[in-house]
Amino acid sequence: MVSESEDSETMKEEKTPKIPVWDLPDVPKGGLPPHLELQRTRVLCTFDAPTHTENFQYSGAYASMGVDNSLRLEEFRSNFRVEVISLTEDDMEFDMIGIDAAIANAFRRILIAELPTMAIEKVLIANNTSVVQDEVLAHRLGLVPLKVDPRLFNYKSENDEPNEKNTIVFKLHVRCERGSSRIKVKSNELKWLPHGSEFILGTEKAAADSTSKTKTYTSFNCSQDSLLEFVNNPIGPKHDDIILAKLGPGQEIELEAHAVKGMGKTHAKWSPVATAWYRMLPEIVFLQEIEDEKAEELVKKCPVRVFDIEDIGKGRKRATVARPRSCTLCRECIRGDDWDKRVALRRVKDHFIFTIESAGALPPEVLFTEAVKILEDKCERVITELS
Ligand code: SF4
Repeated sequence: MVSESEDSETMKEEKTPKIPVWDLPDVPKGGLPPHLELQRTRVLCTFDAPTHTENFQYSGAYASMGVDNSLRLEEFRSNFRVEVISLTEDDMEFDMIGIDAAIANAFRRILIAELPTMAIEKVLIANNTSVVQDEVLAHRLGLVPLKVDPRLFNYKSENDEPNEKNTIVFKLHVRCERGSSRIKVKSNELKWLPHGSEFILGTEKAAADSTSKTKTYTSFNCSQDSLLEFVNNPIGPKHDDIILAKLGPGQEIELEAHAVKGMGKTHAKWSPVATAWYRMLPEIVFLQEIEDEKAEELVKKCPVRVFDIEDIGKGRKRATVARPRSCTLCRECIRGDDWDKRVALRRVKDHFIFTIESAGALPPEVLFTEAVKILEDKCERVITELS
């Protein structure tokens, strides 16, 4: 920054007529000069690092230029859009347009850490002669995604009795017979026990007192398969072919696995998504026409075929941006030989390409609507506390 002496400032003030900045010819009235508007709305990607990555949320950020930067609800409502690009049983890609990166990130974090699912938390091992240690086996079982709607269950605290509304019980009993070859124990061996645990609690006492009622590790009042939600939709692992262990001849595993409701912030096994992530919409702009052999060179530079060539007549060719969404920002197209003076790589700051990959408990579109509800609840709580 150049500092000037007080005298020279006074002289300059005298010489320069005071003109409001919005009256200058190159500043659109009520708007920002084009270079500032570009910095406000785009991340500029140079070959070594992105620049202008920050967002200006302060309402008075551009007050000196006569621009009101405050957030208006009506404006947000008219600008905000969600467009679904692809949707399958397991994943969804959609565009969220007109929001800030902080909100997109809030959805991502809620999806990963705050949406509950059911996962195996307690494993009762009756017999394990495999080479996999009990702890490792229990850990593997915990990571098996379960195909069950967590909204149908309650959280179970430490002091709660395991019942049909807070616990799902599976049993696994596999033996590799002597003389046969090694076998794989896969997740399809986990069998749902809708009546609850079959392991007897306090066997010795029960044997001594034949009048006492046999008690198991769970206290189900009714069978879970009598509940309407599970009649046509039995509970089980999402995938049948996850390998849990391998058994040699004579080896055996017998256990019960109890699943409870939890959140990804406690342990990743409760995260309902394999991943949830977003990226800003890529924008590729030609700063000058790219023609003939330069056009061909540009097409070859891009590994994901973002560019195409069009025929402009008289045997001449011109490069076009055909598939900007595919850009991975590898920056190959602006490397070397003044290419950064021909091509500009940008990211649109308020346009997010969001991808959700469900782990299997709920479809991705339901996960997103649940995430919206959680964010809404949080906002309401904050507003209530403030008021
Ligand atoms: S940054 Fe990479 S992916 Fe994007 S247009 Fe350039 S070469 Fe293609």
